[in-house]
Amino acid sequence: MDRPKTYRIETRSVHAGASDNPLGAVAPPIHLSTTFERDAGGELASDFIYSRSGNPDRTALEAAVADLEGGAECVCFASGLAAIHSLLLTLAPGDLVLAPKDAYHGTVKLAKESLARWGLRTRFTDFLVAADVEAGLAEGPALAILETPSNPTLRVTDIAAVAERCHSAGALAAVDNTWMTPILQRPLALGADIVIHATTKYFGGHSDVTGGAVVVRDGLELTPRLRFVQTETGPVPSPFDAWLLRRGMKTLPLRIRTQSDTARRLAEFLNGDPRVAETFYPGLPADPGHEVQTRQADGYGAMLSFRVDGGEDHARSVLSRVALFVRATSLGGVESLVEHRALVEGPDSKTPRDLIRVSVGLEHPDDLIADLDQALG
Ligand SMILES: *Cc1c(COP(=O)(O)O)cnc(C)c1O
Repeated sequence: MDRPKTYRIETRSVHAGASDNPLGAVAPPIHLSTTFERDAGGELASDFIYSRSGNPDRTALEAAVADLEGGAECVCFASGLAAIHSLLLTLAPGDLVLAPKDAYHGTVKLAKESLARWGLRTRFTDFLVAADVEAGLAEGPALAILETPSNPTLRVTDIAAVAERCHSAGALAAVDNTWMTPILQRPLALGADIVIHATTKYFGGHSDVTGGAVVVRDGLELTPRLRFVQTETGPVPSPFDAWLLRRGMKTLPLRIRTQSDTARRLAEFLNGDPRVAETFYPGLPADPGHEVQTRQADGYGAMLSFRVDGGEDHARSVLSRVALFVRATSLGGVESLVEHRALVEGPDSKTPRDLIRVSVGLEHPDDLIADLDQALG
């Protein structure tokens, strides 16, 4: 695609990152080769030498993800956590990172159990409380990682406001945009410096590939260090994983928008039901995050959570009765999933014990509502 920036995001989702394809195959070939031949004079046919340092499928995926997020460059990894870990490895021992109090539990574990041993300091911050943000910034962090809407209670952080405060304190602002995707929310355009993705979720979209990505804004001198961590420590996606992710991206706009519309229907049903104690979804007009979400994103996403009346035992019995929803962790696939989030997060979890997290898929909304209705008992 010659002038990708002039096309709309749906068009770019289909065509961005297209690479050389001498046979004209409409679906791109997969390059499984780990190594690339030199001619008699020692010259290579392209920039590719060895697939840990680069291969055509990964390059195509990186170009496409960078394009959708409006970033200068994207560096892809074997999982979302490998992406976050690699980003943190670009920092130095002694550096401070601000992470959300309700960060993805894997991010918390990485910070507390792995990177702390290497001298990286993390302060868990409530980015919705200005005084907490200021107290964190006063300690001189190198990086703040935001997650919005958050997991699992969908609290919405004002990206532009927090990024501006970070910049005035000399910190970079990264946003984990996994739950929104660039179709619904583009953090770089709101002032963030870095976007993180677990491409395992909506980019793949079919619960069959793990992946991660870090996208860097124009003018930020981070890419060489990040590229070094990627190619020299080696947490890279396989060519087939990169190919599957690129294929998933082609239908990303359709999937996330339809899934979000259905999530809103489910949230409205749950919110109006006396058996449900509380529904967390920023698309509900009374939700505390509704106004900021409406301003900074093009939709409310396909994740929601709710608390049942009757405590943990009742939450688990509701889960035992679902017939159409699949009881599994993760999100972003075409099949709707439900999980008891506290159980998945483990004994340290602060998630309410009566909370059920829902990833809304592509089934008909009426079928999903009927299933929840019968499961609520
Ligand atoms: C799933 C997820 C991750 C981790 O991604 P993996 O591919 O499982 O390593 C990170 N952040 C968020 C918000 C996620 O949902």
